[in-house]
Amino acid sequence: YQLATPGVQGLHPYQPGKPVEELERELGISNSIKLASNENPHGPSEMAIAAVQASLLESCRYPDASGFKLKQELSTRYGFHPDTITLGNGSNDVLDIIGHAFLLPGDEVIYSQHAFIVYQLVAQSTSATAVVTPAKTWGHDLDAMAAAVTDKTRIIFLANPNNPTGTWFAGDALRAFMAKIPEHVIVVLDEAYAEYVAEPDYLSGLELQSEYANLIITRTFSKAYGLAGLRIGYGVADAAITDLLNRVRQPFNVNIPALEAAVAVLSDTEYLQHCVELNHAGMAQLEKGCEQLGVSWIPSVGNFITVDCGRDAGPVYAALLKEGVIVRPVANYGMPNHLRVTVGLPEENHRFLAAFKQVLQNSE
Ligand code: PMP
Repeated sequence: YQLATPGVQGLHPYQPGKPVEELERELGISNSIKLASNENPHGPSEMAIAAVQASLLESCRYPDASGFKLKQELSTRYGFHPDTITLGNGSNDVLDIIGHAFLLPGDEVIYSQHAFIVYQLVAQSTSATAVVTPAKTWGHDLDAMAAAVTDKTRIIFLANPNNPTGTWFAGDALRAFMAKIPEHVIVVLDEAYAEYVAEPDYLSGLELQSEYANLIITRTFSKAYGLAGLRIGYGVADAAITDLLNRVRQPFNVNIPALEAAVAVLSDTEYLQHCVELNHAGMAQLEKGCEQLGVSWIPSVGNFITVDCGRDAGPVYAALLKEGVIVRPVANYGMPNHLRVTVGLPEENHRFLAAFKQVLQNSE
């Protein structure tokens, strides 16, 4: 068949972790723990569960294609106008919509080495040319990214914090970066993990959005808000850009339970605070454990930590699996010696550390 763009030929389906049931059957184990997908380990908010249950009574109807109620709620909470919001089936959907709205074959897309993999997928599926700038101490080198801009650059993808490195950049750096970027370039600032960040110098792009017509911020309900399985995220941008994104967006891309759950969890501030606090405690637990094991890690402000196994991480990953501990290898991010571990419940973190200790000892 003729492909829409030649880049599609080279694409590979996104490789999510295998379902737990399948892994357990393959390995003949049970009671495994999954610390592989940066999910919220605390279960969904009770308010979100109740909202989903109630919403099922409406499931013979199409969802509200405009997402009126959720946009109102986001608008009240954060102060941006509903006309600046694009809802997506997860924030991945928003990233994809952005690519399809703005990229033609041969256009240049800039992102950093070790950046979230979906930027590469968006560039490749539209046959845009990926310009990958070298990372600086695992994080984005914003100066190098700004210097890579040409007349052909259409989009720059930034993740703050980034996955899988957990690295972040400060508000001053973001401001200086935006000031350098010409208006013909759209900056997509992916803030999937923003709720976890406690650093005083961190600045959300939401604070800057009204100053820059070429800035799109993406956010998700999958992480700190605990709704990964419902698939809901959003973008915030200038109304003119948002209008274009909404022309490309599928009319009913977000389903009724997801819309209702997102509205509910936004008002469940206790849940969010609880999850964020437990994440910080869990991160401290994992850092302390790694220190005791003599394992180094990339300092992370997300809900995951990427550890350096000091050797090929593939066999370490496989040995952890046999112990029923599922983490994420990141060789496809150019990090063959690292494993990404999601911060779990205290007992899950403990179990990971115990299994990691044993696996590292056995493979010495
Ligand atoms: N951005 C980053 C940096 C991520 O790590 C993820 C999830 N892995 C996403 C976006 C997409 O999340 P979702 O589609 O669930 O909103």
